[in-house]
This record gives sequence, C-alpha cells and structure tokens, in this order.
Amino acid sequence: MKKNFQERIAHALSISTDTKIFEMGRGDAVKAPAVFQKCFPGRKAMVVADIHTWPVLGEKVYALLRDAGVVTEKYIIDKEVFHAEWKYVEMVDRLVEGDLAGAKRIEDDAQHQEADAEKAFVPASDDFYILVSVGSGVINDLCKLCSHHHGQSYLTLPTAASVDGYSSFGASISYQHSKQTFSCPAPVAIIADTDIIAAAPKEMTAAGYADLAAKVPAGAEWMIADFVGSEPIIPEAWHVLQDYLDDFLSRPEAVAAGDPDAIADIFEGLTLSGIAMQAARSSRPASCCDHLFSHILDMTEHRYNGKLQSHGFQVAVGTMTMCAVFDELFKLDLTQIDVDACVKAWPTLEQEQQRALEVFKDFPAPRLGYTQITQKYEDAGEVRRQLEKLKAEWPALKEKLQGQVWPFARMQAAFKAAGAPYDPSMIGVSRVQLRDMFPKVQLMRFRYNLLDLAKRGGFYDAIVNPVFAKGGAWEI
Ligand SMILES: [Zn+2]
Repeated sequence: MKKNFQERIAHALSISTDTKIFEMGRGDAVKAPAVFQKCFPGRKAMVVADIHTWPVLGEKVYALLRDAGVVTEKYIIDKEVFHAEWKYVEMVDRLVEGDLAGAKRIEDDAQHQEADAEKAFVPASDDFYILVSVGSGVINDLCKLCSHHHGQSYLTLPTAASVDGYSSFGASISYQHSKQTFSCPAPVAIIADTDIIAAAPKEMTAAGYADLAAKVPAGAEWMIADFVGSEPIIPEAWHVLQDYLDDFLSRPEAVAAGDPDAIADIFEGLTLSGIAMQAARSSRPASCCDHLFSHILDMTEHRYNGKLQSHGFQVAVGTMTMCAVFDELFKLDLTQIDVDACVKAWPTLEQEQQRALEVFKDFPAPRLGYTQITQKYEDAGEVRRQLEKLKAEWPALKEKLQGQVWPFARMQAAFKAAGAPYDPSMIGVSRVQLRDMFPKVQLMRFRYNLLDLAKRGGFYDAIVNPVFAKGGAWEI
C-alpha cells in the first residue's frame, strides 16, 4: 500500500536519525519562528544567506524571527558565485560564535590559508548562535558542518530543489584541493516553502530532477551489491524513497514549466533520499557510479564556458551513461559465464593495485584508486562464489534490475523534458572523455558497483564498449 504525503513524511521522520521536523507547503516560511523556538528555545539565531537568497527569502525569515522576539543576526555572503570551500567553513564557524567581523575578514581574504580541519571542533555553548540556513546546497552544507563543529544543530530553509543534501548527513566541501565528504548530522528541521522553491532558477530545479533520477541506476547497483552480499539492502532506507521514485520523476515537463506541485514532488523525493541516507548511515541509497563521473569532474575542476557545472548537471550525464551500460548488460546471457576461466583470469591484489596506480597516475589524487581497490579487493574464492551465484540466478536478477533501472532512451527523454543536460557535450564533456573516465569510475570508490561485477565475470568490455561504438548511446 502506497502512503499519502502526510504518511510518507511521518514515516520518514520516524526512521530519520537527525531530522525531526519537515514542513513543506506554499508559504511555509512563516513557520520559521515557531519551529525555531520549538527546536532551540531561548537561543539566538544567525540567518545565513547570499546576495541571491537574501531578497528571495532571507530578509523575510530574518524579519519573522525578530518579530517573534528571537534575538537574530544576519550574514549575507557578498559573492556572485562561491563554492563549498574550506575558507567558507571557517567563515561560518565565526558566525556561530557571533564574530561577524571575523567572518567578513575571512570572506574577503583572497590569500586565505586553510586551517586544520581537525581543530575546528569546540565545546558546545548556549551562547552560540543557531544557524538558519537560507539558500541552496552550498550554504546548507556550510551550516551543517559548522553547526556540528559547535555541537549543535540548525534550521534550513532551502531556496531550490537542486540537490538531496538538505536532509543528508555529511557535507561535501573542498579541502586541500580535494572534494571531501565531512561527516556531520543532517538538520533537525527543514522548512520547504514551495512558492520559493518553485520560483528558483529553472536550471537549479532541473539539476535537482537529475540528482533524484540518479537514484534509479543507483538503486539497481545497490541491488547488485545486495546480490553478491557486499552491502545488503536496508529495507527502511530502500522503501522510504524507492517506492515513490518513479512517481516523483513522472512529470518532467511540469517540472520544467515551474509547476509548484511537480517541483514539490522533486523536493520531497530529494528530502526522502537524504532521509534514506540518514537511515542507512551511508550514501549507498543515493549514489553509485552515476555520481562518480561527477566526482571526477569536481576533482579535476572541470569547467564549461569558464564555469564549474552544477552537481545535478554532472550527475545527469553519469545517470544516463549508467542506464546505457545497463541496457548493454541486459543483452547478455550470463547463464553462459565460464566461471573457471573467469577465476583463472582474476588478478592478484598486487596486480590490481598496480593497475590502479597506472589509471590514476595523472589524477589530482594519484593514490585514490590504490587505496579504494585495496579496500574492496576480493580473492579468487570469493569471486568464484559470486560468479556461480550470478550464473545460477541471472534470469531472476535480470528481471529485478530491469524493473528498477530505466532504459537509456527513457532517461534521456526525461532529462530533455526537465531541462537537464541530455548529452555530455552540454556540460562540455566529450564522449571520448566520458569513455576514458570508466576505469577511474570502477576503481575510485570502495563500494561494490556494476563494473566490479563485470570485471569479475569477464564482461566489462561487453557492457562498456558498445555504449561508445556504432549505434551506441554515446556513439563516438
Ligand atoms: Zn547527488
């Protein structure tokens, strides 16, 4: 039985570990003072916005809190564009402590030297300001991590349905030239005013659509990890989002047209994705290879027309690509695998480490593949067990995967309708570049993925090469 909106939210909050309040509706920003006073009685508020989100919502929230008698300060990040860099973490850390001038000094310091991330933690105090994040993914991630540094939570008011990070644990921040996920709890309260969110720039909503759609192939890869016994599916974390995912994604045209209800569906889906991650205490429910293409682009500071591309737009390319790889997988008859030959051909750990060093030798993080493959390497005995299971149970597994993943053509059409990129060239990535990312994608995360299974079964080339061959999704 499918749940209605109220039931879905109540259930989601019952399994979330951090988030206790999720309000979503038209004009819901007015609930900010009541929610703040309920979660943080007697505390001071610091509204954090930027020059775009202040006029859209920050100013209103600031006034509402003040009118309700909450001691409230504000900080408006005075940048046209800024990214989740460690410098801004230090800036927001000062805001929690009420040091507005110190924050401004850090913001304006073009030569800022990054401080030690380990030393950012301080004992909690009732004198600290509670952060009220008014903005999209970056401001939210900064507020999330800085609240954690001070042993407290925060309130977030998203201004766009652009990412699933509002409700996820962890913050994605560039530190020492590499994008890292810092562990930190999700906000205790989220207030999504759908009038505001529906009015966000169209490309932000399209990016959110793509980030949500990534859960389609990511779910299929979780099924594979579950099948081999590497990461069993956690039923609560699966059902909270996956039972409704196709429904949420079913109106891409309406999303592109700015329909508040369709965009509310995207926002709800993204929020449930974050809650699935809270319940699983892992990003497994929300990402797999689909996201790793984006991580490569982040780590190499890929730009198109001089601009870094949004998380969702990069993920769109990874998502379509993985759908194309699954299309090729379904053409194979894996009941015919020669298990003995595959086990015989299985490399040693040393060989795999050597390959990883070779694949990543010109990458900004040259040892990344080495450390990850060392963590996920399995010996020939385990590979035999997995392949025998695959050979025996392929028809049933194939049917399950086909019920989960969308064909490439369907995903591409949905992205086109939603206003998301539907070809890698739309974010400045050539098909050759995309093809050449595959060896890194397979190796760059300890997490078991479809490409790992294909390496074991000797069908890696059979599912990757046709994607770029004549008649393939990304024919070169
Ligand atoms: Zn994402």
